[in-house]
Amino acid sequence: MSCYLKVPVACFKNTLNGAFSNKEPWQIATITASTVLLSVWLYQFLFEDEEYITVRAKKTFFKYMKKIPSIKKKMQDELNSANKGFQNDMAKRFASSKHITRLSKTNMETDEIYKLADINLKLGTYSWSKGRVSGSVYFNDDNLRNLVKEMYAKASYTNPLHSDVFPGICKMETEVVKMCARLFHGDDDTCGTMTTGGTESILMACKAYRDYASEVKGIKRPEMVLPVTAHAAFDKAAQYFKIRLRVIPVHTDTYQVDLKAFKRAINGNTIMLVGSAPNFPYGTMDDIGAISDLGVKFNIPVHVDSCLGGFLTAFMEDAGYPAPHCDFRLPGVTSISADTHKYGYAPKGTSIVLYRSIVYLHHQYTTTTDWPGGVYGSPTINGSRAGGAIAACWATMLYFGVDRYIQATREIIYTTRYIEKRLREIKDIFIFGQPATSVIAIGSHIFDVYRLQSALAAKGWNLNILQFPSGIHFCITTLHTTGTIADDFVTDVKSCVAEIMKDPGQPVQGKMAVYGAAQQIPDRDIVGDVINYYLDAMYYIPPENVLE
Ligand SMILES: *Cc1c(COP(=O)(O)O)cnc(C)c1O
Repeated sequence: MSCYLKVPVACFKNTLNGAFSNKEPWQIATITASTVLLSVWLYQFLFEDEEYITVRAKKTFFKYMKKIPSIKKKMQDELNSANKGFQNDMAKRFASSKHITRLSKTNMETDEIYKLADINLKLGTYSWSKGRVSGSVYFNDDNLRNLVKEMYAKASYTNPLHSDVFPGICKMETEVVKMCARLFHGDDDTCGTMTTGGTESILMACKAYRDYASEVKGIKRPEMVLPVTAHAAFDKAAQYFKIRLRVIPVHTDTYQVDLKAFKRAINGNTIMLVGSAPNFPYGTMDDIGAISDLGVKFNIPVHVDSCLGGFLTAFMEDAGYPAPHCDFRLPGVTSISADTHKYGYAPKGTSIVLYRSIVYLHHQYTTTTDWPGGVYGSPTINGSRAGGAIAACWATMLYFGVDRYIQATREIIYTTRYIEKRLREIKDIFIFGQPATSVIAIGSHIFDVYRLQSALAAKGWNLNILQFPSGIHFCITTLHTTGTIADDFVTDVKSCVAEIMKDPGQPVQGKMAVYGAAQQIPDRDIVGDVINYYLDAMYYIPPENVLE
């Protein structure tokens, strides 16, 4: 062995010759070939998958566990019972109406159609219009609704795919993009597109950066670095586009991403960095300035997800609530997603994605040059797009103007800070980090906070449920800024907490117990299986409901 230190090459030669001295040439060739193939396979197995080796090892373990007949049967029984539960929920919700399952031979009168539509739209027990629901609906006003109705009707048959036939709808889209570019302090080079929602905006940015990195930097195994609190849409993008996620934890006091770990995760395969302004679960904002600096330092694009808060942060300073910059004023920020259908108050179905430079946008586009149907190019996922949604969004922005947006922002932030302050006065619960815009997340060190969720649900409040750790959040919209809603909420939280504190150790019951238990399941694929049934249930028709 010691010869390796003095004459490594000669030593390696002697060892190898010794090892193969009794072998025939065909054996040497075969051994060499198999060794190479095995090494390549091993390398690929270890490093060339989107998922870490440890994650895959765990998955494989559970996969084989689930092949054991007794475990398999037990699991299927559990899944079937979960499925039945989802179906029963649906049956209850639809109990008062029937499902149309066959197109009638004759046409229906419009009055009849309106009547049926009203029945459908009245289903459900939560009164969102009375402000009892977190997030979901961001504005509720008859004038705006009528404007949107008119605009949608006017443009309902237009399609920006045919820009020669409908140049006006393309112009409206461009105007929305440019108005937004200005709101986020872009310049003449800032460009982008409208999309159908925040998820598509995020998908598009990830696709653009993946293809940009592949072409410009030759990155073939793309990775993105993102906070664990970043929206699930990034995971969706990773699944769709085969990008490996480097998920970075957040500090457990601030609920902002751990920048040291964030920086360590950057490597030669990193195609993009992500920060949320703010994130969905806790409403806290990552240090976008620091992430921008990392982007500049390592020459890696930075995407700021402002889907939720973009149309608040853009107006906060003018509303009297100055906040850290999180837009194109930061030199490293190369793209922003912001949802016009959230605090832009447009009806559902629009969002925007903006880029600092056209070079990124070009990688968002897809082009198909050899199709018999013609040379085909499209800017986003869709081919044909709903001109009605674009027109309605355009009209909504004009209807608001800067002043009304500032006013709405002022009311929302005021209400959020008020609720936050009042909640902080309640012992036995805590607020996660510092809410940056309109989301307040509540936890408890004393009792299972899911009990608070159940108790509030019993009083008609519909909140969002968080996990790892358990929490619930309330997202304040213009529906919560009027009347006594903010006080009603605080009062109900107070009385629920008081009730729970009579016996703080008691475990959570009912549906929320299932949610709590789900966090304990080490095999996340099982949770995925349950979610599949949940999604199936969305399309479930109770047999007794079928209208023949
Ligand atoms: C809502 C949201 C998204 C995704 O938007 P959709 O319109 O629901 O697809 C992305 N990021 C954040 C922070 C969001 O709150």
